[in-house]
Amino acid sequence: MAPIDQLSEQQRRAALGIPDSILLDNKIYRASLDTILGYLEDTVEYCGFFYVQYGNYHIMRDQITKGIHDGDRSQCTHKDFYREYIWHTHRNGGKYYPSLEDIEKVIKHKSIEQSFIFVTSNAESGKQIGMWVLHCNFDIRVQPAVVDPEISLINEENKKFYENTKGGTYFDVGAIQSYKDALNSGIDGLRIDYYIYDSSTGTFVNCTESS
Ligand SMILES: [Zn+2]
Repeated sequence: MAPIDQLSEQQRRAALGIPDSILLDNKIYRASLDTILGYLEDTVEYCGFFYVQYGNYHIMRDQITKGIHDGDRSQCTHKDFYREYIWHTHRNGGKYYPSLEDIEKVIKHKSIEQSFIFVTSNAESGKQIGMWVLHCNFDIRVQPAVVDPEISLINEENKKFYENTKGGTYFDVGAIQSYKDALNSGIDGLRIDYYIYDSSTGTFVNCTESS
């Protein structure tokens, strides 16, 4: 078989054991989405869990936490032990790429199937709403902790992203693409995708090419 980074998206998913639905069926229930879009206006993070019903992700409304300010960071800690679907927002005006901790979380906790990060970035057309979806395939991933040189790779890619997007705030499809490519091919079992929110249809659309 060809190296994994040379496969088509379909072949790659099959090789990694990722069902199509993980990349394509990200329908967030309308009322849950409206709640999250509201949180994106705030200057602190929010976090919580989703449950799936009839093909939609629904917010667990009694499990939402509002983050606290910690210097220039705003951190949010989940209420419970990790569940299958976790989500958090990045604060308005903050960096829109995943932190090292965000990436480590899906690798350290086998209970997490998908981690959703809702973000905003600045673009010429105005504010851009986006969503990262992080997944770790434990059939491939043997080591349940992120180790060097993976930590170095993540730090390096986050730094690059920061520099290429005006301090991690400016929407740039090329930066997102290379970020995804570097981490998906450099970290065993990890799968990161980025989706743009299309307000006319109320759905998230995968904006980058398959990697
Ligand atoms: Zn985060």
